[in-house]
Order: sequence, then structure tokens, then C-alpha cells
Amino acid sequence: MRIGGLLKFSLIDYPGKIAAVVFTQGCNYRCPFCHNPELVLPSLFKDPLDPVEVLVFLEKRRGQLQGVTITGGEPTIQPGLMVFMRQVKAMGFLVKLDTNGSNPDVLEKILAAGLADFVAMDIKSSPAGYAKAAGLAVDMSALERSAGLIKAAHVPYIFRTTAVKGFVSQEDIPAIRAFLGDGCAYKLQRGNLKSNLLEKYLLDGNYDFSDAEWALLASAGGLLEL
Ligand code: SF4
Repeated sequence: MRIGGLLKFSLIDYPGKIAAVVFTQGCNYRCPFCHNPELVLPSLFKDPLDPVEVLVFLEKRRGQLQGVTITGGEPTIQPGLMVFMRQVKAMGFLVKLDTNGSNPDVLEKILAAGLADFVAMDIKSSPAGYAKAAGLAVDMSALERSAGLIKAAHVPYIFRTTAVKGFVSQEDIPAIRAFLGDGCAYKLQRGNLKSNLLEKYLLDGNYDFSDAEWALLASAGGLLEL
């Protein structure tokens, strides 16, 4: 389990909970608008944190934090993920898993073992736009399987799209909703292009939605907040 960062306190990364955030190091996608390149590109990796030290920190926060969000990078490519999740849950924390959905086999084991109390799965774009948004070819059948597992798992979940102009358009939204099926918890959020990004060309201002463009897109998305 390679841990690239630890946020010791967050009110926004686990809906309704006070949580720590564990950032795993490494990702199998290359989304151009990714704002965590240091968790994606091996050339930017810093020395990983020792998982034992993270567990020691969490032990000290029992009774103060309610949950732990495990995010990335992409957590499901980490060989020690389930062991780590089990250790965190054994301390009494709720565990939220953030995933790009690319590893349904791992997700299935995690859900079957009851190791995730909340799952957030990114939906990068419509099936037609997915390769561009993920930065590489994507197995859509794997994503479909992951989405089905999440919907059937009886744990709270959210599917979410971080929309960046040029990667998600108004036409993509109905296709995303059709891909997910009716009645899903889905959130469309506006991409933040102000910070550190995997592809620097996105910082030139041409990829920001205007407020009017965003209003149109958001109305097409039929925002559903948890
Ligand atoms: S935004 Fe894309 S590249 Fe970045 S961590 Fe998430 S899945 Fe990986």
C-alpha cells in the first residue's frame, strides 16, 4: 500500500462526517484535468508514508474523527488496500472509498467483505468521450460492472462527474445518465482549473465554463445532491 499523502482533518471529503483522507500513490488513468499529478505520475512521486504511521495517527484520533476517506490516485490498484481498510475499520472508523471504477474485481471483494461504508465513483464523461477524459483507452464494460456492484451493495454511494469544458458537454449528460441507469445518486461538479493539473495547457482559460455555459450544463445534469 503506497500512501502519498494524509489529510488529518476534513469536513468535505466524507458526506456528513469528520474524516481524515488517505491519498494512495499511483493511478491507471491519465485524466488531463487531474489536480493530483504528484499522485499519478511516477516521476513526481514523493517518498511514500509508512502505512503503520498512518494507522498510529488514526489510533490517536479515535473518538475525534468519524471516518477515513481513501482516495488517490486510484486506491484499487494498491495490493494492500483491503488489509489497510480492514485495519481502519477495526479501529471503529467508517471508511469511504473513492474510485475510478476500473477494477470491478477488487471492488466486488471490498463490498462483499463489508469494508466500504460509502463509495464514490468518478464518471469521467459519456462512453463516447471517456477515452479523451481519462487520457487513455478505457474498458467501459469494467466501469459498467463497477457501477452495477455499487448500486447493488446497499451502502451509500455517489457517482460524480467533474466537468471540464472540452471533456464534458451538454450532449454527454444524457448519455452519462443512460449509462448509469435511472434513480442513481449522481452529482455533476464544475472542474477547478486554477491549480496544479496533469496537463498544464488546461490552465490557459479556454477550458473554464462561463457561468452561463455551466448553468446550461448543470440543468442538463439534473443535479442530485446527497
Ligand atoms: S483524476 Fe484521473 S488521473 Fe487523477 S487520480 Fe483520478 S482517475 Fe487518476
